[in-house]
Amino acid sequence: MAVEDNYHEAESLDTSVDSLGYDHPDASQYRELAVDLRSRLDGGVQFDEYAQILYATDGSIYQARPAGVVFPKHTADVQAAVRTAAEHDVPVLPRGAGSSLAGQAVGPGCVVLDLSRHMDAIQDVDPDAQTVSVQPGVVQDHLDAHLEQWGLKFAPDPASSNRATIGGGIGNNSTGAHSVRYGITDAYTEELSVVLSDGSYIHTREIVLDSEEWDDIVSNDDLEAEIYRTVRQLVEEHEAEIEHRYPTLKRSVSGYNLHKAIYENSEGETVINLSKLFVGAEGTLGVVVEATLELVSVPEQTALALYCFDDLVQAMEAVPEALSFDVSAVELMDDEVIRLALESTQYAQYAEPIPDGTEAALMLEFDSELHSDFEAAIEETNGHFVDSGAAFDVLKAYSSEAQAKLWKLRKAAIPLLMSLEGDPKPYPFIEDATVPPEELAEYVQQFETVLDEHDTSAAYFAHAGSGTLHIRPILNLKTEQEIETMHSITEDVTDLVLEHHGSFSGEHGDGMARTEFTPKMYGPKLWQAFKTLKTAFDPEWLMHPGNVVYRDTSEDIGPDTKRGTGADMREHLRYGAAYSSVEPQTELDYSDGFSHLVELCNGCGTCRQTDSATMCPTYRASREEIQATRGRANMLRAAISGELSEDELYSERFQEEVLDLCVGCKGCASDCPTGVDMAKLKTELKHHYHQKEGVSLRERLFADIDRLFALGSTFAPLSNWLTQIPGARRVLEQIGIAPDRALPPFTRESFEDWFEARGGSHVPPSQADARVVLFPDTYTNYCYPEPGIAAVKTLEAAAVHIELFSDNPSGRPSYSKGLLDVAKRRADRNVDALLPYVEDGYDVVFIEPSDAVMFQDEYLDLLSGTAVERVSENAYGVLEYLDKQRLDDVLNVEPTDEQLTYHGHCNQKATNKDHHAVGVLRRVGYTVDPLDSGCCGMAGSFGYEAEHYDISQAIGRILFGQVENSPGEQVTAPGASCRSQLGDRDGGERPPHPIEKVVEVLE
Ligand SMILES: Cc1cc2nc3c(=O)[nH]c(=O)nc-3n(C[C@H](O)[C@H](O)[C@H](O)COP(=O)(O)OP(=O)(O)OC[C@H]3O[C@@H](n4cnc5c(N)ncnc54)[C@H](O)[C@@H]3O)c2cc1C
Ligand code: SF4
Ligand code: SF4
Repeated sequence: MAVEDNYHEAESLDTSVDSLGYDHPDASQYRELAVDLRSRLDGGVQFDEYAQILYATDGSIYQARPAGVVFPKHTADVQAAVRTAAEHDVPVLPRGAGSSLAGQAVGPGCVVLDLSRHMDAIQDVDPDAQTVSVQPGVVQDHLDAHLEQWGLKFAPDPASSNRATIGGGIGNNSTGAHSVRYGITDAYTEELSVVLSDGSYIHTREIVLDSEEWDDIVSNDDLEAEIYRTVRQLVEEHEAEIEHRYPTLKRSVSGYNLHKAIYENSEGETVINLSKLFVGAEGTLGVVVEATLELVSVPEQTALALYCFDDLVQAMEAVPEALSFDVSAVELMDDEVIRLALESTQYAQYAEPIPDGTEAALMLEFDSELHSDFEAAIEETNGHFVDSGAAFDVLKAYSSEAQAKLWKLRKAAIPLLMSLEGDPKPYPFIEDATVPPEELAEYVQQFETVLDEHDTSAAYFAHAGSGTLHIRPILNLKTEQEIETMHSITEDVTDLVLEHHGSFSGEHGDGMARTEFTPKMYGPKLWQAFKTLKTAFDPEWLMHPGNVVYRDTSEDIGPDTKRGTGADMREHLRYGAAYSSVEPQTELDYSDGFSHLVELCNGCGTCRQTDSATMCPTYRASREEIQATRGRANMLRAAISGELSEDELYSERFQEEVLDLCVGCKGCASDCPTGVDMAKLKTELKHHYHQKEGVSLRERLFADIDRLFALGSTFAPLSNWLTQIPGARRVLEQIGIAPDRALPPFTRESFEDWFEARGGSHVPPSQADARVVLFPDTYTNYCYPEPGIAAVKTLEAAAVHIELFSDNPSGRPSYSKGLLDVAKRRADRNVDALLPYVEDGYDVVFIEPSDAVMFQDEYLDLLSGTAVERVSENAYGVLEYLDKQRLDDVLNVEPTDEQLTYHGHCNQKATNKDHHAVGVLRRVGYTVDPLDSGCCGMAGSFGYEAEHYDISQAIGRILFGQVENSPGEQVTAPGASCRSQLGDRDGGERPPHPIEKVVEVLE
């Protein structure tokens, strides 16, 4: 069954930095190469300094600038790129999402081939044979989502699967929590199409040795023939050494897969399959352009049992026995992970059920393909672990919700550890060393000794069932001394791993962190064989040189250059002893400093996921690295650390390409595992920019939108007519308002007028059960008073007395534009004006979510002291207020069978306040489908700005698609901008605020 699907949620958008009209001079040393690439490739070519910075890092501790980046559109582009780079004697590096943890997606001086942008098609699914053919750039979760209709999936499940590509998984030989059951990527990679170092294209599959097919291949005088001959010779020559040196583990991904290249197939024939060698080669042997993968069926059900131990070593001793119960995962969390989770607002709920005194928890998963009765299976394991006294308690999870919570806790380990404040961080460098499970207990004790000897500590967690513990020693890699400590720990741990017959990497690969140690693991004979193998595939060592294998000296086998010589884990560090960053004087409050917030980005790439969560709408719409939170953070780090010139930060290009396209949705503040808050960083930097360069007329207008709208309302309907006449539109265009964007209509009677005309609140304070100050936003007040009226009617129906606040706008637009002085003044005035009410027992209630969050969150960055804290803690969105006070319980409502689609506001999602509206709507009788949507793309004034109109629309189209696919009869959204964006779509009507839906059902 042929399927063409490239999973672009929004059609490809030309928001590419080129479209903004800037000149992007190629880095001088590679100018001619860039020119040649441009003339030969259909895909894009970026060789400027920004591209080099954006692709200089991955999820690891390393950083090195590449020559430039190309975005191949098809195999011919990959071939042309490889050949052209070779002509210029420049190496190449294929790359997917760049989420690697050992530095293997970083290539100093390489041409990076970003295969994630265009080469992401799912080409052919054969559900009967359980196979699929894909291009390398497809994201693993997208593939699995597509396979769901046949009940199939790709078995290896790295935790990064929501952005990691299949090509990267092949490059790294990835695997995940279920390797106990399914093994690793090489077991599922049957056939590959690969571009070799000379630009030729081969198709790898099982070839029966000495068959006619074999003879045909090796009789040629080409690179493919040379490779086949060499691989066979190396495997046959080193049979005994291979047997002796390769560990017998479920997962070992160090070095090359020489031991898997020749095997007996299901028909008993001896075959050679180069596919197995390309897996785990980290892009050093060729570029995979297509893969045929084997699939497995998805178990219909699973269950979890979490065993609580009061001792880590005891938990490790239990692992071999756990494996005897046909489990599909055995995962570990130690007390440090549990303690950090309990201290975190986000994860505490998942850790709370774990009993006190748990020093280590082992989580066992059972699936319905291996067990028909989960309760009986868990009873049996209880008999071994709890009844015997090894574990002191067990938590069982049968429902998918209960299981999801335990998995969330297990997966929280890395984000929790990485968001530690200060420079010492738990860095990945020996974080996936693996030993046989039966040796884990002793290994863990000895590991602890190594850490003690180096005066550091670490948490212990992850895939105990396959012997892979993610242990990340806490170090400060900004000091020479601790860089040496890192090296020394690695020396000791690699010794330890060898003693225990393990592998230096059981999951994340060699990269810059571990290639130095490959000879130690495989010994001199296989080390020489690896070099010979590499030279056969890549005689000039032009494919990601120095990774997995290196040349001991420049006289070693290979080209007559120094390329690929030596490896040292202490080189190319992202930080390192020479790293320093400027700490600007900031207007906002930063608990650990501005630069620390920038440096919190560890490159994990979660902000490149495109399926769910609020982060990051601009990447979702554009698929450009510079428009992901990671891209922005990398550019900012370059700017504060002197990698870019100081002036660059204030250049128009930096402002517009790096900062202005961030819609400030705050999605990253909550969804980024370490909490990189780009909206806050952007606002701060825009403020500094304004101080230096002044403020444009358009920015002033938007920041002062309230006054403008007040005027518009006063002169309505004349003002509405004026905005429509051609001359006025032209003036608006000249100041940068998008000509295609409809402007909001002004209402003659503002919301405030309406409230006054009705004689204020109809519930006198003496008869009220509660009292609030209602804060009308600009749109409600001057354009669309209906939500305000609905809020008044609903609150009064619940016996709430209302005072209307009409003094001063929230300051949100000024804050978003980086006019922090204005925002601060407004915040100050509002707090002063509202504090007496709060002290008198009033709450402050908002119709517009971005205003509510402004008070709840941003005011605390702008101001300090108890006054702002008091006002902030008593500020609520209107639905949040109804929900928290359970006021809907006292409302008399008519029954309704209407089904609604709910699109929440990104600011409320980011502050975990989005669920309130859904709860209230459900309780007053609606069936609600809450969308897993991000920002609508309007984001205050963003969508009105001419240069942002296209990306605003592209982000909007993602939301429109979600709305169309929802069963709801009507969409409702609390954000005024979201309602405008949804109302502007083809055939779309401006949706109501959820409070309008509440008032609709009031009796
Ligand atoms: C928080 C976090 C959790 C992680 N958890 C896991 C885990 O559970 N299990 C696991 O295995 N890994 C894990 N990783 C590491 C990494 O995400 C995975 O290995 C992932 O599969 C890499 O995919 P990618 O698209 O990001 O590849 P990249 O990082 O872009 O590339 C990986 C390697 O593959 C090579 N490559 C990429 N495309 C091709 C191609 N077309 N042809 C040839 N070579 C190619 C690259 O040169 C590079 O050497 C994790 C990383 C993070 C940050
Ligand atoms: S911004 Fe956050 S999610 Fe994105 S790469 Fe950095 S740490 Fe990961
Ligand atoms: S604030 Fe929103 S648009 Fe900006 S980087 Fe964060 S998630 Fe992306």
